[in-house]
Amino acid sequence: MLQRTIRTAIKAQGVGVHSGKSVKIFLKPAPPNTGIVFRRIDLDPVVEIPASVHHVVDTALCTCIGYQGQSVNTVEHIMSALAAFSIDNLHIDITDKEIPIMDGSAAQFIFLLQAAGVVDQPVQRQYFVVKKTVSITDEQSGAVATLSPFNGYRIDITIDYDHPDIPDKCSNAVFDFSLTEFVRRVARSRTFGFLSDYNSLRKKGMALGSSLNNSICLDDAAVMNRDGLRFFDELVRHKILDAVGDHYLLGYPLQGFFKGFKTGHAMNNRLLLAVLSDPDAWEIKHANELGWNV
Ligand SMILES: [Zn+2]
Repeated sequence: MLQRTIRTAIKAQGVGVHSGKSVKIFLKPAPPNTGIVFRRIDLDPVVEIPASVHHVVDTALCTCIGYQGQSVNTVEHIMSALAAFSIDNLHIDITDKEIPIMDGSAAQFIFLLQAAGVVDQPVQRQYFVVKKTVSITDEQSGAVATLSPFNGYRIDITIDYDHPDIPDKCSNAVFDFSLTEFVRRVARSRTFGFLSDYNSLRKKGMALGSSLNNSICLDDAAVMNRDGLRFFDELVRHKILDAVGDHYLLGYPLQGFFKGFKTGHAMNNRLLLAVLSDPDAWEIKHANELGWNV
């Protein structure tokens, strides 16, 4: 239960799903207690943006974090891969303001981390432990998000879209967190959107890098991607992927039970801030204080 970083630096290149621009990222080992830190190396001087729930500045289409007037968009998929490997400390150097979308899932970030290797560091990891149930609702959408005490990390998400190609059986999934299960069940699930939204976003100069190569797109009748879905319930699995990434912005692995109905990045962030605002609802503990046999 020691802190972790990667063994060797590694790089990747792709396009930003909203900017459409080509961007490079460089993952580099970082010392204990650094946390995950994005560095905008295209700026002079370089701006460091710590991956923190307190630095979330926009959740409309992705999770965007900002600091000192600069930002980095679409951090949730790489954050979910880092959560999967329990990487505590990492520098992520980036040449633009958006993490590349890759294939729309976390699979290529998982591959990168496997290639880089993971190493323990001689400092104990700490955990974010939920002590009390906290729930929030969104009156307009009917969305509900709840975090409760739990011996482990469990996610239970229900989506609710009125669409002929999203039947009820695809609308709920429960996930008990582990690296193996994340890689097997969640990591390959892709981001998704609707053709009607896509057309209006393009008119506003967004979703410029989006394509059927990096997103599931649904028109009024069906999934448009020629090869279909990777899992019959890929959409709700991707919601789990996003939640894992958003939760990792707490700065510690989560010990708790997240239940979400119609949730997305905005509700994920609002819930974490609601929990943090109540000092009785959470505590930070070392692994040996959790009653684990370590
Ligand atoms: Zn996503």
